[in-house]
Amino acid sequence: MDYDFNKWMSDYRVISAVGENAEGGIDRLAYTDYDFAARTELLNRAYGMRLQCFLDAAENLWFSKPGTDPDLPPLLIGSHLDTVPNGGRYDGVLGVMAGFQVLRYLAENKVAHRRTVELVAFSCEESSRFNLSTIGSKLACGMTDPEKLKKYKDASGSSPVDFLSRLKYAPESLEDRRKHLSEILGYIELHIEQGPVLETGGIDVGIVESIAAPIRLRVDFTGRSDHSGACPMDLRSDALVGAALTIAEVERLGRSEASSRSVATVGTINVPHQAMNVVPGACTIHVDIRGIDRSSMERIYAGLRDFLQKLRVERGLKIEETLLSDEYPVPMDRHLGEIIERNCKNTGLSYRWMPSGAGHDAMNVAKLAPSAMIFIPCVGGISHNLKENVLEKDLRNSIQILYEVVMDICR
Ligand SMILES: [Zn+2]
Repeated sequence: MDYDFNKWMSDYRVISAVGENAEGGIDRLAYTDYDFAARTELLNRAYGMRLQCFLDAAENLWFSKPGTDPDLPPLLIGSHLDTVPNGGRYDGVLGVMAGFQVLRYLAENKVAHRRTVELVAFSCEESSRFNLSTIGSKLACGMTDPEKLKKYKDASGSSPVDFLSRLKYAPESLEDRRKHLSEILGYIELHIEQGPVLETGGIDVGIVESIAAPIRLRVDFTGRSDHSGACPMDLRSDALVGAALTIAEVERLGRSEASSRSVATVGTINVPHQAMNVVPGACTIHVDIRGIDRSSMERIYAGLRDFLQKLRVERGLKIEETLLSDEYPVPMDRHLGEIIERNCKNTGLSYRWMPSGAGHDAMNVAKLAPSAMIFIPCVGGISHNLKENVLEKDLRNSIQILYEVVMDICR
């Protein structure tokens, strides 16, 4: 594959920087103007490439490079363009841009291929805005609907549905996508590893065996606000202390399941009307439990619920749990993984089979079609951070391995 890497890199720099803030981090949150601007940048570059482009009602952006045999089910590749707040330049966007280069190369060089190759940029993959991940692919796969999405809100109280205006006048495009995804040959998502395993081992490519699933919940603690000077210690009902004890317990539960490779995190805490001289009367936290062993995840969840029950009794707090996600680990398709393995061997790239600790759109598509993931090392394993970085050799490897796999399947 002989292409102009520098041209790709200059496109990459523009698109991956959309939403850059003063600190150098990327604020390209789902369904914001920046998110839509990144799609526009990508669409502009597709202009003249004779690709079919399509935006569905979930704001997923699809490209298609038709093969010579329309009877063969297409191969889909892709990832996402949105970022976490103050995020980096590689999570999601690398998979889209590597895939875009494959399509561009096929189109510009008139490479013959029988099977159609499609690219998708799924919308709202990150959970940071609405506390729900992979909304675009969930909608396209028929795993959620606008009614269910209404309970998920961002910090300003808006739900994803408020931004999906197309849902109102073209809802059938989602049913069309669900049907389409159940008919494709398979889906391959290239993504940075977001952890240190590949870099530490000096390995070029990770082939994902299974994607860890999250159990996520919001916990609302309600006690009573009091004057921090006038209210004696034995008469208090401090919601923040209840949350603090829970945070420590979540860490303890996660550590107790480390041998099963499960993890547990409290990533947010919110104290409304907080003030130094007020005993906090309310507090909300979000708990994220993940693993590739469902029974281990359930032990953490059960331990947490027991602990919250104990807090209710011992501290007289009102504690409400809202389950936000309850998912099962998703195995990737072995056959597609072996095709990736074969092409690593053929191109001299080192590889290892590994689990994905993070969730990805591939876990939803896997419900309808064989799915696989290719991991690329990122510097220091750092991700969801403005310091996210990928070495040039690994950027080149991304495009190369994706191209080889696509041609192996579609030629
Ligand atoms: Zn991602």
